[in-house]
Amino acid sequence: MFTTSAYACDDGSSPLKLSTIKRRDPGPRDVEIEIEFCGVCHSDIHTARAEWAGSLFPCVPGHEIVGRVGRVGAEVTKFKTGDRVGVGCIVDSCRGCDSCAEGLEQYCENGMTGTYNSPDKAMGGDAHTLGGYSSHVVVDDRYVLNIPEGLDAAAAAPLLCAGITTYSPLRHWNAGPGTRVGVVGLGGLGHMAVKIASAMGATVVMITTSPGKADDAKRLGAHEVIVSKDAEQMKKAASSLDLIIDAVAADHNIDSYLALLKRDGALVQVGAPEKPLSVHAFSLIPGRKTFAGSMIGGIAETQEMLDFCAENGITADIEMINIDQINEAYERMIKSDVRYRFVIDMNSLPKQAA
Ligand code: NAP
Ligand code: ZN
Ligand code: ZN
Repeated sequence: MFTTSAYACDDGSSPLKLSTIKRRDPGPRDVEIEIEFCGVCHSDIHTARAEWAGSLFPCVPGHEIVGRVGRVGAEVTKFKTGDRVGVGCIVDSCRGCDSCAEGLEQYCENGMTGTYNSPDKAMGGDAHTLGGYSSHVVVDDRYVLNIPEGLDAAAAAPLLCAGITTYSPLRHWNAGPGTRVGVVGLGGLGHMAVKIASAMGATVVMITTSPGKADDAKRLGAHEVIVSKDAEQMKKAASSLDLIIDAVAADHNIDSYLALLKRDGALVQVGAPEKPLSVHAFSLIPGRKTFAGSMIGGIAETQEMLDFCAENGITADIEMINIDQINEAYERMIKSDVRYRFVIDMNSLPKQAA
């Protein structure tokens, strides 16, 4: 084992602060990663602030990790020291169930191991996984992604969660030429959904609560913008969309968005607010509509997404922060004030915890 610096919180009401954590020494299939950049996902906030059930403390969030390979285990052939690699939300799974066999590790029937906040099988005991707000991480090579040449390393970090979480449902529900795709919530996930759906050839309709984001939405690739607080605009857009990706992190009225779907359309929930969402049966029944969910994406699909983004010149629009700005960044995200993903420059993490 070795120790590394990290930013952690001790409970759901304490800020993140400089800490020291333990990492395992690389085993035969392990890759040690010297973390350069880590994106800030709203799931980090939900977990660090114990908004979802089951937060484990101390909590080190971060699952949009990009860095350089340090030490590698003897059986690792895919990566060598110095390579630029990424780690998203998954660091292990059972590798034996039907979901794992199909490359859908995120739906592992025995429970995938999240990059943070999961029981850490490799460490054993009651250890839990600790994420990317740290100087190093050690990950089995089967869960490490190749960051294609040509992608800016910092701006590619958000692809590892925000990118794949929107790419996967867009592919699954066949977004492309001839489809009209709505995106709800122009934050980290939403802005990736706009860029990716637009690159897939879909007509993209941004649905935002923030009128001030309309010009940005168009610059990012949206063809139309609806301000959801304007009842007239929402009414005009009724029954006009084939697919909606809902990336909202807070409580909101699903029925008003379902009204935007055409017959047989689907609203896919990727945003995961703390409180249950309610749906009126008659928002679904008359138009044979689907209210669905989707979780990140498997490892193979994440690599496919990274390669798609490299081919299409897609990365996130980021605001780089130092690690000591993280608590302030959380407050800004809660106010929908991020354009459009915070990424932590991990060089700003002091090497030794105080
Ligand atoms: P984010 O950057 O904070 O963006 C959330 C956006 O939601 C805001 O920018 C805002 O956009 C919109 N919004 C906020 N409050 C709203 C309200 N009351 N009504 C309507 N819209 C509202 O968050 P994120 O990192 O993209 O994450 C979004 C959600 O996805 C989080 O709940 C996160 O945990 C979840 N998530 C799920 C998965 C998965 O696998 N399913 C993966 C990653 C994240 P506008 O200003 O445009 O309205
Ligand atoms: Zn995430
Ligand atoms: Zn499995």
